[in-house]
Order: sequence, then structure tokens, then C-alpha cells
Amino acid sequence: MSNTLLKVSGLKVAYGGIQAVKGVDFEVREGELVSLIGSNGAGKTTTMKAITGTLALSDGDIEYLGKSIHGQGPWDLVRQGLAMVPEGRGVFTRMSITENLMMGAYVRSDKPAIAQDVERVFTIFPRLKERKDQLAGTMSGGEQQMLAMGRALMSRPKVLLLDEPSMGLSPIMVDKIFEVVRDVSAQGVTILLVEQNASRALQIADRSYVMESGIITMSGDAKEMLSDPKVRAAYLGE
Ligand code: ATP
Repeated sequence: MSNTLLKVSGLKVAYGGIQAVKGVDFEVREGELVSLIGSNGAGKTTTMKAITGTLALSDGDIEYLGKSIHGQGPWDLVRQGLAMVPEGRGVFTRMSITENLMMGAYVRSDKPAIAQDVERVFTIFPRLKERKDQLAGTMSGGEQQMLAMGRALMSRPKVLLLDEPSMGLSPIMVDKIFEVVRDVSAQGVTILLVEQNASRALQIADRSYVMESGIITMSGDAKEMLSDPKVRAAYLGE
């Protein structure tokens, strides 16, 4: 079995007195594409924010590469190869596409390799290349999602966390984004994908966890879950 890169154990996170994540365990192994699915308000984004150090844990632990990352901030984690594309993308709207991509490489100093990686991102997303001097704020939601993913790839992550990449996009753009997530995974990047679009997430993932009201209610091989009548009835609207 391959290495576990990310391990979440007994994770609890609260907003004031309200417990949003109530004791969650899951892991992501090297090379896997793992999805965390569940409806609105299940606690998926809260879990992601706890992993990336933007929210404090009230209990439990998170290990990355075999060591607890408790208390580390997002910048430290990116430097160690744990990159996140947040819900709502968070691109720098007043910067060009190329400048946004360069910001993603701020943790690196290997200039020639950075230039090569910009080209690599442009190969994955030809649309970004066509508009490389355009201001990010003037691009469509789908293009901004591509840019946010490209920017995260510029840090050469070992693990990429994607929070709802399909949110608010047109059906064609949703297809494109899922295709790219699968391609990036096929290139060897380990991915944790948070998605409300359970059907699409299960189609591309290796394994999946279902989250409901702050706990994991189901987990398993994504293809098996996709054909499980219980999952289909509860999460795929059948
Ligand atoms: P979505 O897909 O809508 O983002 P989610 O599964 O990611 O859903 P979270 O955003 O993690 O869910 O929210 C989990 C719970 O925590 C919800 O009940 C939500 O209302 C609550 N919550 C989220 N952010 C805050 C906050 N800043 N303050 C108080 N409660 C919050």
C-alpha cells in the first residue's frame, strides 16, 4: 500500500459554541484522488480550512507526511507542498494571469524551472495562455477557477486541496474542470477534492468519503459507491 500523505484523526472544529466538525477521520495516500462529498453545510469547507491552518482545531490532529501540522499556517504548508485552491478561487483580480501564476511560485527560487512550469500550466489550460496579459478580475468564473488551479500547481504541490472547483460554473466549464482535475491527478499529483456535485466527484475519484452534519457517514471505493443504490438514493438524487 502506498504512503499516507495526509491523515486526519478525530478532527473537531467549532465556530464559537457551534461544533461544525464533530470528530472526523480520513486519509489520503500518495497518488490518490480522494473526494469528500456531502450537502451544503456538512462541514467540508471547515475541514479543508482546518487542514490548511486557516481555522484552529478544537480537538484531534492532522498529519502531513507523517508529522503533525497542528498550529502551522497556510504559507508554511504551501512551502512543504500542501496547496489549496479555496472555494471562490481567490485570484488576485488586479494582476494579470501571468502575474497570478508567478505569485503561486513565490515559495520557489528556481527561476528557469518556474518559467517551464508557467509553460506547463499554459499547456494544461490553453485558455490562460491566450489571455496571459489580461487582468484576472475580468475573466469568467471558469477561467478564474483554471487560474486558481494553475497558480496552486506553480508551487509544485505534493498534495492539492480543491474546494468546490465546479461551484457556480456553466455545465461546459464544469466538464472542463473535472477533466483537468483528472488529468492533474494522472500526472501524479495527490488530490483531495471537496465537492457538492457528488456524481461528478465519484466519477473521477479513486476513493470517497461522505460527510453529513460534521461527521463521515460513509466511505469507500468511488466506483463502488457510484453504483451503490443507497448512495444513489441519498446523494445522487435517485
Ligand atoms: P458548503 O458546500 O455550503 O460550503 P460545507 O460542507 O463546506 O458546505 P461548511 O462551510 O464547512 O460546510 O459549514 C459547516 C457548518 O459550519 C455550517 O453549519 C455553517 O453554517 C457553519 N459555519 C461555517 N462557517 C462559519 C462561520 N464563519 N461562523 C459560524 N458558523 C459557520
